[in-house]
Amino acid sequence: MMKTHYTIDIDQSALNNTTLCEQPARFMAHHGLANPIGNSMDAIVNKTNGGDVNETSEAPSPIDQQSVANDDMRPSREEAEAAVRTLIEWAGDDPAREGLVDTPMRVVKSFEEFFAGYKQDPVEILSRTFEEVEGYDDLVLVRNIEFESHCEHHMVPVIGKAHVAYLPNGKVVGLSKLARVVDVYAKRLSTQETMTAQVANAIEAALNPRGVAVLIDADHQCMSTRGVYKKCSSTITTQFRGDFKTPEMERRFLDMLRGYQ
Ligand SMILES: [Zn+2]
Repeated sequence: MMKTHYTIDIDQSALNNTTLCEQPARFMAHHGLANPIGNSMDAIVNKTNGGDVNETSEAPSPIDQQSVANDDMRPSREEAEAAVRTLIEWAGDDPAREGLVDTPMRVVKSFEEFFAGYKQDPVEILSRTFEEVEGYDDLVLVRNIEFESHCEHHMVPVIGKAHVAYLPNGKVVGLSKLARVVDVYAKRLSTQETMTAQVANAIEAALNPRGVAVLIDADHQCMSTRGVYKKCSSTITTQFRGDFKTPEMERRFLDMLRGYQ
């Protein structure tokens, strides 16, 4: 069918991987018949629509409110490395010993990768669009967008996959740009709820599509390596906007995630 040509599966191999915890794509496939996501979706949607994580149109600058406005306000690299030395000492080790002496430098360099999203503008990433699509106006879905993030409460890794769809309004955007927008928000300190809304907000703001759907399924290591120690839990969040806010379109989005059969 025509629409399958526009469905990009970034990581089909994830379906074949077996790990201690089921990977998100595997979760979807494994539970496809029971359809637990569909059954629980109303609760998820109500939660995200009614909770404080949902952006509203009145919110000031929803796209950029987390970005660092003034680079001069940031501490220097030396101050950041000193802070890491303090944490090493606080943990009970000697930051001057051989194995740790360069660790603050490495940690700060790692932070530059982990939090690169503060310097990126998702609307700019989505700014180049294409109108020569021969009238294509159906759902565009990029699924299995792997990401690594860090939760804002513990600064511990959040590893997951995002599935992003939109209904074009006369123009489409490069498919890889949708994946890059996920990365922009993943590379900031956030919650999964906020990140899900932000991805939807950015696509709405940049493309003015007829609808947007975002589903994120992620493992939070602050739940598996500390605290409640729930190694196999995963968290699903969704945002449905515009024409996706109907039971039929929500169902179609979820069916396509499972494999469009
Ligand atoms: Zn956390």
